[in-house]
Amino acid sequence: MISMSFFEAQKWAFSFINKDDEEKKNAIGLLLMDIRGWNEVQLLENLRTNLTGTEFEQFKKSVKMYQADCPVQYILGHTQFFGHAFQVTEDTLIPRPETEELVEWIILDNPLADAAKKIADIGTGTGAIGISLQLERPNWDVTLSDISEKTLAVARINAINLGADVRFAAGDLLSVLDDKYDLIVSNPPYIATTEVNLMDKSVLKYEPKEALFAQENGLFFYRKFAEEIVNYLKPGGKLYLEIGFKQGKQVAKLFENVGRVEIRQDFYGNDRMVKVTI
Ligand code: SAM
Ligand code: GLN
Repeated sequence: MISMSFFEAQKWAFSFINKDDEEKKNAIGLLLMDIRGWNEVQLLENLRTNLTGTEFEQFKKSVKMYQADCPVQYILGHTQFFGHAFQVTEDTLIPRPETEELVEWIILDNPLADAAKKIADIGTGTGAIGISLQLERPNWDVTLSDISEKTLAVARINAINLGADVRFAAGDLLSVLDDKYDLIVSNPPYIATTEVNLMDKSVLKYEPKEALFAQENGLFFYRKFAEEIVNYLKPGGKLYLEIGFKQGKQVAKLFENVGRVEIRQDFYGNDRMVKVTI
């Protein structure tokens, strides 16, 4: 077999993609780095190194999956969120950068020196939100919950790998909680079924539908939270939610009689998160 360097393998992969597409170029870069667990600098320094036959075969398989719209995070089996490597599988949503901004809001609202808090992350997926919070605030008592056992199994692996001391509860929304909490956070499914045609092919083809779509024009989970949250928060407790960029006004209305509502925008200036203080 003819040996191929990392540089040539990169050239080979680039021949299948539009080179002006930064996202695609980055994805190929991630696949190349992953072969030997290198970072960007190591890859640049080793472009003339040859891949073994097995490594090139594996890389070819990965590039083919990527061409078939598989998100690079599923091919790699992991992604970065809030500075940590989280395992992802096709049973879990790939955590998004917008969600890091929700974590950041909670961290900034709660200085390290504050008292311990009891918190829950509902619909935790990979555990991205709850685990990141527990690692930032080690004295918090954090419960991760999801309706999907398969998803929760991935969250368990992530908690172990990242050394987060968290609890787990499988079940429907708030029904898994048996106490009152200081803070509840959730990034629930919020895409309206009518929005299917606006979505990225790779999301639709590979990410779990149960993590994305919600009835009632995407508002189902917010209505449920609005109806039930008072039973699960201590007085002065807070609910933080991620929302769809067109849902700010409607979500604020759902919570107007529940507590004080604050809406925040994401990095792109879109309404993206809500805090309700009861
Ligand atoms: N928190 C993760 C994140 O931000 O990356 C995942 C968010 S994903 C948009 C929504 C999650 O809610 C999925 O993991 C899904 O399994 C879970 N879910 C859907 N319906 C649920 C329900 N009725 N009760 C609890 N979790 C639910
Ligand atoms: N932000 C995700 C997307 O656009 C949706 C996440 C969700 O429904 N909570 O695909």
